[in-house]
Amino acid sequence: MNPSDSVKKIKGVGKVKSSYLSALNIYTIKDLLEHYPIRYIDKSKLSSISEMTSDESFTVKAKVIGITNRKSYSRKSILTLKVVDVDENYFEVMFFNQNRLVNRFQPDEVYYFYGKYDQGKIVHPEFIHVHSKNIDKFMRITPVYPLTEGLKQWQIRKIIETTLGLVDFSKLTALPKEITQKNKLCPLEYAIKNIHFPESLSIYKIAKYHLIYKEFFDLQLGMILLKNNFDAEEGIAFKRHELINEFIKKLPFNLTSAQGRVLEEIIGDMIDTKVMNRILQGDVGSGKTIVGFIVLYLTVLNGYQGAMMAPTEILANQHYESFTNYFKDYNLKVACLTSSVKNKDKEQIYKKIKSGELDILIGTHALIQDQVKFNRLGLVITDEQHRFGVKQRQKLAENNETLPDILVMSATPIPRTLSMVLYGDLSISTLDEMPKGRKEISTHFVKKNKKLEMYDFIKKQIAKGRQGYFVCPLVEISEHLDLVSVEEHYKELDENIFKDFNVAMIHGQMKNNEKDQIMFDFKSRRIDILISTTVIEVGIDVPNANFMVIENSERFGLSQLHQLRGRVGRGSHQSYCFLLADRLGNIAKERIKIMVQSNDGFIISKKDLELRGPGEILGIRQSGIPTFKLANMIKHNDILNKTQRDMKDLLLKYKLGEDKEIINFVNSKSKEIFNGYKLS
Ligand code: ADP
Ligand code: MG
Repeated sequence: MNPSDSVKKIKGVGKVKSSYLSALNIYTIKDLLEHYPIRYIDKSKLSSISEMTSDESFTVKAKVIGITNRKSYSRKSILTLKVVDVDENYFEVMFFNQNRLVNRFQPDEVYYFYGKYDQGKIVHPEFIHVHSKNIDKFMRITPVYPLTEGLKQWQIRKIIETTLGLVDFSKLTALPKEITQKNKLCPLEYAIKNIHFPESLSIYKIAKYHLIYKEFFDLQLGMILLKNNFDAEEGIAFKRHELINEFIKKLPFNLTSAQGRVLEEIIGDMIDTKVMNRILQGDVGSGKTIVGFIVLYLTVLNGYQGAMMAPTEILANQHYESFTNYFKDYNLKVACLTSSVKNKDKEQIYKKIKSGELDILIGTHALIQDQVKFNRLGLVITDEQHRFGVKQRQKLAENNETLPDILVMSATPIPRTLSMVLYGDLSISTLDEMPKGRKEISTHFVKKNKKLEMYDFIKKQIAKGRQGYFVCPLVEISEHLDLVSVEEHYKELDENIFKDFNVAMIHGQMKNNEKDQIMFDFKSRRIDILISTTVIEVGIDVPNANFMVIENSERFGLSQLHQLRGRVGRGSHQSYCFLLADRLGNIAKERIKIMVQSNDGFIISKKDLELRGPGEILGIRQSGIPTFKLANMIKHNDILNKTQRDMKDLLLKYKLGEDKEIINFVNSKSKEIFNGYKLS
């Protein structure tokens, strides 16, 4: 089997299973190989009864000294083994309704039992006779995988085990020999096999080291290749224009000095003949949008068209409204293109974009449909949209002589040292200053018994004319189920707690025009409380909203919490964020602590990178930071530094052009990244 083959090639994986797998973002054999365990069960580690607890499973070796099988009054059968371990601890092993097990145990024989120990007994353990021929399989370190509804742990284990036996590992791009030798890395095949089914703990560590190294190395190489590729592209040499200064003067506020600085950086790139690839990062609320608008205007002043792409319709509409508002006295032709625009109107937009009649197109992914053909596209801005890759870019520029400049806006600011890694040497502009007059959002963790107080507080805020949000997370296991909970929650708040106020609900599965209507009503203060799933996560700008309650805050990542919180604190009123949580694990506790302490996106994203574990990759919408599967930039910083050094050496050798293996390696990597796109 080839790594690029579909998972459907695996025996036993058909329509149903492959749909479960795709819910885990697994489509190809390679994806499956990279679906790493979140933890392992080591049944080979023997414990004594005295060490065992009721919350975790352990393996104990014990001799059976008595067997009884009886019926309970409810006619269930109960098989009870009286056993004794090597330390002469006596306890019981019980099985309910498992008649087939009755003859599996013999008195005076010794077995391993794996299960949870509670009050003198282990119920339903896994077990095996000490001399069984399957002992190795029982004892081995067993992986535990992230799951999705419908898929069982043993099933995915089996799928992965089967696959490991059939994959042609030589088809994977391994690290060059030079690198593996220098760092004493094990072979790739060995690493992959042992990350799934480690032969021992020490081998597991060796395997993991290789894969962490490889993740860092691959991402950084990719970034460098991208950068080289872009640098080689000729772009448009825009001209600076006096009119943008006049526009800036007429704004209702003064630009912050950070906004002024990044604007110069961006314009500098636009003026350059090279094509622009710049990331504009800045904390939520730092005022990225207006910077984007100004350079869109500059684009039009130069006779080119500009495009701005947002991840959701709500956001696209908001940008459109806000743009047309800023530019209402200017003669700019602007349209908004989303999937809910009527077909007839769409046709009009396509026509006008193609003829050049439209200056600016704002929209969602609908912008990169086949029908959209620009006449003279000069600049593309993507807002909170990190998956904007090489392919989309090519697509947009299809009919252009030159590639358009690209500006990516990101609300997850990353400290300089780390952004070098994540974005390679892509140019980065950072808004490190908030507009004047912003107040810190006062953030609180609210325990259950303080909820009523919180409700009272909110009522007072509403009485003062404020508005706010209640955010409920979407559980990815079943969106349907979850919606019920959001709906129920809505009822509870609407009909009971806030029955004297206007409460509305908004979520991703609503029709677009419904969503628009609700957002409109919220902005025009006809709604006091907006209950929502995370559709409001990005970008929404309603300055009068000053409180936010985040339910089940333990389910969100740190950057995501910060982004959500950034929906308030946008006006002149003091804002509040209340974090509710049911059960708090250690990481969740730490996250909430950081949220309560800090309003600073830089600190928060750094902490986020530190705390984020492999267990969290499961379907949670990421907040823009490219994520590693095993690697952690902060925990594995020493490996990261090594890869950076090795990468430099390697690229030097590549440029010298003597080492064939290195040349092949770099070329095949660039093929992987650019999908056949040429590397100059
Ligand atoms: P983000 O960086 O999160 O996208 P926005 O661009 O939505 O932030 O800006 C947040 C709010 O701040 C908007 O209401 C915007 O009009 C306002 N704003 C932007 N720049 C300034 C400024 N220099 N002074 C005052 N308000 C500003
Ligand atoms: Mg924004």
